[in-house]
Amino acid sequence: MPKMKTEVKQVAEIIKGSKHLTAFTGAGTSVESGIPPFRGENGIWNKYDPQIFDLEYFMAHPAEDWKLIYEVFYKTIRNAQPNAAHYALAKLEAEGRLQAIITQNIDNLHYKAGSRNVIEFHGNTRQTVCLECGKMYPVAQIDFSDMPPRCSCGGLLKPDFVFFGEPIPSGALQASYDEAQNADVFLIIGTTGVIYPAGQIPVLAKQNGATIIEINVAPSEYTNRITDLFIEQKASSAMTKILNLLNIT
Ligand code: ZN
Repeated sequence: MPKMKTEVKQVAEIIKGSKHLTAFTGAGTSVESGIPPFRGENGIWNKYDPQIFDLEYFMAHPAEDWKLIYEVFYKTIRNAQPNAAHYALAKLEAEGRLQAIITQNIDNLHYKAGSRNVIEFHGNTRQTVCLECGKMYPVAQIDFSDMPPRCSCGGLLKPDFVFFGEPIPSGALQASYDEAQNADVFLIIGTTGVIYPAGQIPVLAKQNGATIIEINVAPSEYTNRITDLFIEQKASSAMTKILNLLNIT
């Protein structure tokens, strides 16, 4: 049986005793910041065709696709602010108690909260990359009134996040495997584990002997399979309680 009624206190003790704590975050960490999830009833894929993230479609319809991507992502994300869960993770890192965050989110909120060692498994929305020459441009420098945005070389700029049909950036993949290898405690926050290959990282951590703590509002793919301690709560409230118990303010 999964540990449905894990006390937050127990989790705080385990974090306190950990040598290498890694956090793994997903959409559930950012919904409280107003970022809509991709899946589920209010998810983006209920409103928009996932082909907006398909590389072939993007190359064939860059102006149209950029307009949609800009509407759906950049406008929301630009104004979104971190919530208590993001800040709690940043404080844990600053206190030397958290070694890394692997995030599936592309919303930049861990960075905004002050986290430094963030592995962005699916890329981010801070940068764009030229598909011809590879030059990177910060999103802040881009004129979105002229779609699609282009590089000085004339090449098409693409958001620096992973589209369908694209591989996971090798650096992020390797860094995530390293974390799954090195973590003695692995903290899953706000993610259900259904996205491949990202969802496999906690499974690898478990296979390598890590204690798996899961914070989710409902049981997930992980709960019965790999989770050792399950906190059935929102990310912000669970993380705030954990920090209080660790006397980190
Ligand atoms: Zn270029």
